[in-house]
Amino acid sequence: MALNIKRPNGTEDVIPKNVHKWHTVEKIARDTAESFGFGEIRFPTFESTDLFLRSVGETTDVVQKEMYTVMAKESKFTLRPEGTAGAIRSMLQNGLLNEALPQRVYYIVSCFRHERPQAGRLREFHQFGLEMAGSSSPAADAEVISLAQTLLNRLGLKNIKLYINSIGCPACRAKYHDTLRTYFSAHKTELCETCQDRLIKNPMRILDCKSPICQEIAKDAPIILDYLCEECSNHFENLKGYLTKLGIEYNVNPKIVRGLDYYTKTVFEFVTTEIGAQGTVCGGGRYDGLIEQLGGQNTPALGFAMGIERLLLVMDKQGCDYLTPKKCDIYFATMGDAALEKAMELSKSLREYGYFAEYDMMNRGLKAQMKYANKIGAAFTLVLGDNELSEGKAKLKEMEKGEETQIALDDKFAAAFEEVYFNKIMDVMETESGDGGLLSFMGGDK
Ligand code: ATP
Ligand code: MG
Repeated sequence: MALNIKRPNGTEDVIPKNVHKWHTVEKIARDTAESFGFGEIRFPTFESTDLFLRSVGETTDVVQKEMYTVMAKESKFTLRPEGTAGAIRSMLQNGLLNEALPQRVYYIVSCFRHERPQAGRLREFHQFGLEMAGSSSPAADAEVISLAQTLLNRLGLKNIKLYINSIGCPACRAKYHDTLRTYFSAHKTELCETCQDRLIKNPMRILDCKSPICQEIAKDAPIILDYLCEECSNHFENLKGYLTKLGIEYNVNPKIVRGLDYYTKTVFEFVTTEIGAQGTVCGGGRYDGLIEQLGGQNTPALGFAMGIERLLLVMDKQGCDYLTPKKCDIYFATMGDAALEKAMELSKSLREYGYFAEYDMMNRGLKAQMKYANKIGAAFTLVLGDNELSEGKAKLKEMEKGEETQIALDDKFAAAFEEVYFNKIMDVMETESGDGGLLSFMGGDK
């Protein structure tokens, strides 16, 4: 019977043969964040809807069009559309901001947005994100951008451009909003309905509208950089200086305002042109007002989020290396019940040593078992039959070269296997030229 219930539109499955790609990104992301002093934080998949209304902002696409909100009895909850709100809520609720500053957290989470599904745009997607709270220095902005750049490099990604901008503080933005209102008012009837409303409430949001007509009108709009106050302007200049010092190439793009309302001063995006229209793999910036807005003390903070599906699209496209998926170290081909029981016993001891061991569970004949061992790419095989059992030894076969080694089937079996296994590894290392990239970074942990 055909399966007639399919996964919802805009969601994806990850099956075992592809999961190593996710593990690669997750491991390198964690290692990189931790090497910059960030610790992992975990928080709920859903939060009170109010949290997102107050942080993401009522005039954003996310809040106006994309949230999955449910009524549960009397309470209204929303599946998180992004990570910052929940991470900051959790930092506040757990008193992290009363401890030594800066507080640095990272997370790998699923996010939910009701968008039109297409390549790189899903309804359930995953973010690697991080937040740093407590520092108002542009050195913190440079640090966070540098972390993102380091991670993209370690993943082996190329041709990703960094765009930066400053959208100022509430003081410089007030003046800018007035100028924008005047500019867009001249085009009021051409703007989409949402933007006509934004014209009054939050004209800067129009710059982020996805409608081609609004985008065309926004092309000639005044730019925020001309309206920055002295403090914001200095902050931006200092950040540029630090990025240059760190050897990080950037482009100033005054059109970047980011899709969430909480940003102040620095905003940035890492963008690729290689996966079509959905090319922003990382977006972030400073949000100095958010923590106070959520009921904490006035604490400057900043962060970024990377879309993991988009990272993987680019990695696939560019043929980046992934961690090698774990393969079967040894397959026991068995004949008869006694041999099967021996294979169980030997597998148990090997697994305690950390090896990946398998034996037949399909009642197959010897030939079919060997075919299976080949198919799964087992590094070694060992045939066990009555003869081997009565002699107490068997031939361990290395599958690539076909070399065979006698091995005793006693309680030193796992140790003896380990010796043969290490010799094989040494052999491979001597014949293969060293991989300078991913594998050496992983410290051989593959
Ligand atoms: P976009 O302009 O592409 O809609 P955004 O500004 O809405 O992006 P952010 O809220 O900044 O995105 O989210 C951070 C990152 O999460 C994005 O840069 C992107 O890589 C990823 N992302 C956002 N929305 C989606 C989605 N619907 N599907 C897959 N990844 C997404
Ligand atoms: Mg979006």
